Amino acid sequence: MDRATRPWSPLTWAPTLLLVPCLIGAAPGEALDGAVTSLEAGADDPEVVAQADLEKAEAMARKGQFRSAQVHYQRLAKKFPTTEAGKVAARRGQPSAFLGWDWIAESGDPENRIDVVLMGEGYQVDEMHGFVRLAADVPHFFERNRTLGAYAPYFNWLRADLVSADNGVDGFGRDYDTALNGRTLGTNAGHVGIDTKAVFDMMRELPEHDGQAVVFVRNGVLGTGGGGVATIGGQSLRTAVHEFGHSFGGLGDEYSTETHKRGAPSRGKNTTPDPDPAKAPWAHFIEAKVRGVGMYEGASGQVRGAWKPTSGGCVMESGEFFCPVCREALILRIYQFVDPVDACEPASHPRNSKEELAMPTEGLTFVVTPMHPETHKLEVDWYILPEAKTPQGAPNPDRARAFGYSRKGAGKTRAPGRLPILDAKPERARTPHKTGASELHIKHKDLDPGRYRVLCRVRDTTQPRGERVPWVLKDTEGLLESERGWWIRVPEE
Ligand SMILES: [Zn+2]
Repeated sequence: MDRATRPWSPLTWAPTLLLVPCLIGAAPGEALDGAVTSLEAGADDPEVVAQADLEKAEAMARKGQFRSAQVHYQRLAKKFPTTEAGKVAARRGQPSAFLGWDWIAESGDPENRIDVVLMGEGYQVDEMHGFVRLAADVPHFFERNRTLGAYAPYFNWLRADLVSADNGVDGFGRDYDTALNGRTLGTNAGHVGIDTKAVFDMMRELPEHDGQAVVFVRNGVLGTGGGGVATIGGQSLRTAVHEFGHSFGGLGDEYSTETHKRGAPSRGKNTTPDPDPAKAPWAHFIEAKVRGVGMYEGASGQVRGAWKPTSGGCVMESGEFFCPVCREALILRIYQFVDPVDACEPASHPRNSKEELAMPTEGLTFVVTPMHPETHKLEVDWYILPEAKTPQGAPNPDRARAFGYSRKGAGKTRAPGRLPILDAKPERARTPHKTGASELHIKHKDLDPGRYRVLCRVRDTTQPRGERVPWVLKDTEGLLESERGWWIRVPEE
């Protein structure tokens, strides 16, 4: 299927998606004449014609014809200034603008993945192919990191194609016209920064995103990261992983080199101004005696007065791997976006639902597809509970979905809550090797007449074979586990 026409790709402002074949091949100047005489339903509606033309321009960008796309948007904006598509085209026809987008790596349904957007800043129209090549390498590089590589199937990657009129970085009295208003910050080394609002405006042009962007500034240096936006000067993929640690993981710097005046160090996931190990945000790692984790002074860009959990080697210092504390934080963050249950069949019933499946003579089969990290399988347990024994206060099994990220930038993530403990023995289920899904078949004769709750629980142990302790030691919000449930009724014989 064409990537641009898959069913979940929403065209938010298009009332109908109508292809108008007679217009698709036409030069922009001829479009309206053809439309007026066309018998195609809706083909004389300027909204429909303009929409088809907008898609044509976006398709040009997807093929790498960036200059043609730019010209096409400009013509469309002039021709249909009052239509919705014409307004979008007017925005995209600016000298610095969003021209189009494409998937770089797709691991699954965007509804249950972290969709990260890559953007280039300060790339003029003829330089944009350089960014396309750079962007193609990013997912592979991230996968080489142990933690992000283990959870690579939890990420989708998109590329937004942004054109900049100029290729400079603002600062030192100069102001360039670029897509994201890149500028030199007042740090000792002149770190690059961009306009975060502009990044989010660009993300709104996309059908899918989770408020997470990685921006490469062509002529900037070093990097900055926070609030969902990682900014990298030049093309350093190594810097990109560090900045992503800030922007996605909310992690602090573990290096002690002063880059700029930062004020008093604050308490974060991997840094603290308090040397007391019992009060450290990673106290549970020290208590569990995880090798290499302790209190090390020198963090948050200061030599004194700030502590970190390890003595070097973490990506948040200048190392290659995330330290155990940062790894835990990242995995929990990943599960704020991704439900451990990727799919189920049939659709599950909320706990209070009156819905139920009647048990037919041939029995019932339930299928749950868990997420699958590269390093290990998730635990899957099935239960059949008589209605009276169904736990009270159980979170709605669909709650995770309900808390899913709102695409248009509300920034909501999962907050499922811990599942109640079940006092029951798990059922025997099948795991057909091919799909990785778990299947439970219930026979009619196995159950007495009555109403039952079928539950499937999926949990990430975060402990690949050979690891002495789980990667996540504390999961207070129950992010690593998820549940689906169904009501069934076994009729009287
Ligand atoms: Zn760390």
